[in-house]
Amino acid sequence: MSDTARTWHFNRRPDGDIASDTLALRAAPLPTPGEGQCVVRTIYLSLDATNRVWLSDWDIYMDPIRLGDPMRGFLLGEVTASRHPAYEPGQLVCCLGPWSDRFVIDGEALQPFPDASGLPLADAFAILMIAGPTAYVGMFDIGRIEAGDTVVVTAAAGAVGSLAGQIAKLKGCRVIGVAGSDEKCRWLTDDFGFDAAINYRTEDLVPALREKAPDGIDVHFENVGGEVLDAGLTCMNDYGRVVICGLISTYNSRDPVPGPYMFRNVIMRRLTIRGFVILDYADRYPEFHAALLEWMRAGSLRYRLDMVEGLEAAADALRLLYTGGNRGKLMVRIGAEPAQ
Ligand code: NDP
Repeated sequence: MSDTARTWHFNRRPDGDIASDTLALRAAPLPTPGEGQCVVRTIYLSLDATNRVWLSDWDIYMDPIRLGDPMRGFLLGEVTASRHPAYEPGQLVCCLGPWSDRFVIDGEALQPFPDASGLPLADAFAILMIAGPTAYVGMFDIGRIEAGDTVVVTAAAGAVGSLAGQIAKLKGCRVIGVAGSDEKCRWLTDDFGFDAAINYRTEDLVPALREKAPDGIDVHFENVGGEVLDAGLTCMNDYGRVVICGLISTYNSRDPVPGPYMFRNVIMRRLTIRGFVILDYADRYPEFHAALLEWMRAGSLRYRLDMVEGLEAAADALRLLYTGGNRGKLMVRIGAEPAQ
């Protein structure tokens, strides 16, 4: 195998949307691993909406990526060489690592990938790494869903949203999804089992929510922000919970984002609004994985993967998340899965 690795680097800070020169793909010799380090061959890279946030100069929940640094993402890979006692060649691992086909990393930054036998590896990575745990924490811990609740999910046809809605259905809630096309709305009701769907591009959101949720909203699971969040706040019930999982409509904003204008409903409806970051829940991943794997194996969770081929396609593919161009969990196949 060649001792050169190809890696995407943060090349120029975007002013608004991610541009063609925001990231740059460079080749460099793979360093020799030191004591405690491993060499990892990347198999899958997860593309996540928050990747854009890491490229901003905002004060965020973790260190932003500095100009010139490797772009970072959630990865599944195979250890090909190890100088760390916990890892050996052939082992499947996941981590927050560089957008690279091969890299050297401290063993302490790796996690063994859970045993997902019986499931396709790509599906297991897509659901278990970020989207599934996020949907789980957002619905149970933050939204505190109860059977009979009316739950609204935005960006509902996406990776997190589609799982969040299905988890609420499994708990016995009535679930309404908001998505950006009639086709995605059909996925919600026909494939993912949502009770109703609203196309925010063609429907007036507040009347549509009042029609689809005539008794009001108990839990609003927000992935979008802006006008979509405002519409949800307008229709909340007393003591409702507003889960701020993501605000994707604002991540490319150059200017401060106004609103929400219906903030007064936090008092009028005695709401709880709470944001969360899934990285804070790392110690509970075994619990999330056990639940998600059980649902996946039982066929109780449906999901769509949007698989992009090749490391070189990663930077362009990331932009799909902010236009609605992705059709399911967006990820990149960078290397082959290990032979069984
Ligand atoms: P998705 O698979 O949901 O893809 C993003 C979707 O967002 C797009 O397909 C599009 O769907 C929708 N969207 C994009 N821009 C807009 C816009 N301007 N207005 C309305 N909808 C828009 O991505 P993820 O599942 O990775 O992420 C979903 C959300 O979850 C993000 O906000 C992300 O930040 C958040 N998240 C939060 C985590 C946490 O720890 N809190 C962890 C992981 C994700 P459509 O076609 O329907 O418009």
